Amino acid sequence: MKNICCNLEVQVKFRFNDKNEKRMSDELLNELKSKINKSAGEDLKSQVLIIDRVASSSILRNLLSHDNPFNPKLGDLKAFWADVQNLKKIFVCQDKDCKKSKVSMKNYDTVNNKIRCGCGKTEYDWKK
Ligand SMILES: [Zn+2]
Repeated sequence: MKNICCNLEVQVKFRFNDKNEKRMSDELLNELKSKINKSAGEDLKSQVLIIDRVASSSILRNLLSHDNPFNPKLGDLKAFWADVQNLKKIFVCQDKDCKKSKVSMKNYDTVNNKIRCGCGKTEYDWKK
């Protein structure tokens, strides 16, 4: 998650103390969403649903709060994990020969305004 956001230059204010780790998935997901809404084209915006699902998951909420007793059902965990994997797939090229599989601003295509992975098979419209 951190890698994805770093690669897309999602900005989050840095805070000291342990809150930094706890809030990260939650806040990063929201930052990622707003970044996509601002910069991404329709192809990537259509994927926001998956980000939403992960962000609003009760499992994520429970993981973030240490106080609650937490007994997730295996089925719920599996569904959550599948969502997380799908989320990752959006931003990580699935081609096994891809050398730099993470979709990144480093591979920004200034001619076509796209962000892409190293091999270019995974690419999205993106305005800077
Ligand atoms: Zn690739």
